[in-house]
Order: sequence, then C-alpha cells, then structure tokens
Amino acid sequence: MESSGRPSTAQVLLLATSSAVTAVLYSVYRKKAATVNRLREAKKISLEQDLKNILSEAPGKCVPYAVIEGVVRSVKETLNSQFVDNCKGVIQRLTLREKKMVWNRTTHLWNDREKIIHQRTTTVPFDLCSHDDSVTVSVRVVRPLEASETNLETTYETFHPTVQSLGNIIGHFISGERPQGIRETEEMLRLGECVTGVGELVLDNSLVKLQPPKQGLRFFLSRQDYAALLAKQERSARLWRLLAGLCGLAACATLFYILWRQWTLRRKQQKERCALQEFKEEQRRRMRELEVDEDAVPSGACSICLSAQRTCAFLECGHVCTCEPCYQALPPPKKCPICRAPIHRVVPLYNS
Ligand SMILES: [Zn+2]
Ligand SMILES: [Zn+2]
Repeated sequence: MESSGRPSTAQVLLLATSSAVTAVLYSVYRKKAATVNRLREAKKISLEQDLKNILSEAPGKCVPYAVIEGVVRSVKETLNSQFVDNCKGVIQRLTLREKKMVWNRTTHLWNDREKIIHQRTTTVPFDLCSHDDSVTVSVRVVRPLEASETNLETTYETFHPTVQSLGNIIGHFISGERPQGIRETEEMLRLGECVTGVGELVLDNSLVKLQPPKQGLRFFLSRQDYAALLAKQERSARLWRLLAGLCGLAACATLFYILWRQWTLRRKQQKERCALQEFKEEQRRRMRELEVDEDAVPSGACSICLSAQRTCAFLECGHVCTCEPCYQALPPPKKCPICRAPIHRVVPLYNS
C-alpha cells in the first residue's frame, strides 16, 4: 500500500489475476454442470425390438439426446490387434510416446517427461446390439472418433529402452536431456464390449443411427455404464466448482485486504487531521494566555515555547515542530505534539 492510499501494483495485479482465473474456472464449471444436467435429462432408451417404432413416432424420427447401451458388433470387417492373437476390435489406437528425463535448471532435478511422437487411430463401422440374441435391431455408431470418454482398453504395451553409451551419457549432461526410451501402446475397443452411447438417435430409412448430437451437447461413447459415466462427470464438475470457489475466495480476500488497508489509512489520516486541529487551537489559546500576537511569532519558531528555533525532526512521522529543550520536556512516553505519533528517534537539525 502506498502512502497515498492507493493499492500497490502487486495487489492490483493479484486481484485482477485471481478474478480473471476465477471467471475462467467458473465458466468451465458452468459448462461441466450443463453437461451433467443434459446427461441427467437425456432419454434412456433400451435396445428392444420396437426401437424403430418408437423412433418413427418421435418428431423428425429422432431423439435429440439419448442414452443407449449395447454390445459392440462389427458390420463387415474387423480390426485385428497387431500384437495379440485373436484380439479383434472396431477402434484401434497405436501410440508411440517418447520418455525422457529433462534437467530442471531451477530445482536442479531430473524430471520425467513423456511426449506423444506418433498416434494413429483407425476405426471400422460398427453397431451396438442387444445382449439378447432374439432382438435383431441394432444401432449404427456414426463418427465414433468424435466422442469423448472413449476409454479404450489397453491391449498391448511395451517399452523400448534407449541404449546408453558413455559418450551419450556425457552428451546428456551437457544438453540437459536424457532419453529413456519409447513406450508403445495399442488400445482397442474390442468386439463384444458393452458400451454406453450418448448422442442423437435417428431413424434413417430402416437404419437406426447414433451420431454426434447438436451443438452444446456432448457425444459420449464409454465402456462404463450410464451411472458410472454420470458419476464421473459429476465428480469433474464438483472439482471445477471447488477450484473456482477457492480462487474466488482468494480474489475476495485480496479485495477485502485492499479495502481494509484503505479504510485504516483513511482513519489514520482523519485522526491526524483532528490532532492537528486540536494542537492549533491549543496553540492559539496559549498565545492568548501569553498575550503574544500571532503575527509576532517567527515562522520557524518552536510550536511549544513559541520563541526558540525548531531544531528537532521526529521519526517516523517526520514533523519538525519543537526546539531541543521543549522536546526534552515532553512527558514520557514522548509523542509528537502535532500528530501524537510515538517518537522513535529524533534527528537534530542544525541551521547554518
Ligand atoms: Zn521550544
Ligand atoms: Zn508528528
């Protein structure tokens, strides 16, 4: 806080940053909360024989946001795992991650770093079918890669370590990067997996399709069931709410601190003004008592004896208002006669 009563740049910066971060966190929370609400309100539809009838009676032959659970079946072709025998699926994701240790110049520690250097996702058309084999209706999943929460199953994972030679190791210490190796993973959505899809359900000719919903709604394709999927979204929303709350609290605390400092400073200034006023009145009264004319007192005269020169500067208030004998005569604890601030130190002034 500056003596002028204006908040310091650091305080203003802290207030602005915490308010901005709160706003961002809150908007993320609002989005998450909206997703949770939409997910709660989504129409639960079971994969039954009369699904087509239900859809053909719906307006536009469409349910804008529906939850449907089913078993993954391929339409024509399937994807085979490149590493595991007899492992077939409809979505396959191959990822290569480079693992290395990076020297942190601030903490002076080696930190683990992982970076995706290559990723390829392939998919083939697939349907969601009923667990019950007598039900022949199936739902075609359209654009499955646009879905979020597609927690694929890791079918293969291996680590290829980098061969280290002495020359390399010295080089790593100089460059501050020590490669560890490459992690290779294969993830798949396998046939027969039970999947919960949340999206737009439409009847297109005689084909039932689950596709990405209209704007503002999220497309889900999850190996979890609906309850677990909803619980996960709720947890995420709660976390963002907590973060926004904590950050908002910090912003409020900063604001209150600034206001409080300003209020105390203003009160102090007011007190000083009152003290000065009282002092002046007291001085005038003494002048009357001593029958001294106000104009006859020299401008640099001690404000107590009204005759000797002012020679003492009081710290911390900085007032120069008395001569040395009058300062010595002040009753302990010594206070500045003008502002009544305690006198911690006196600097003698020598006029030449
Ligand atoms: Zn004096
Ligand atoms: Zn003073």
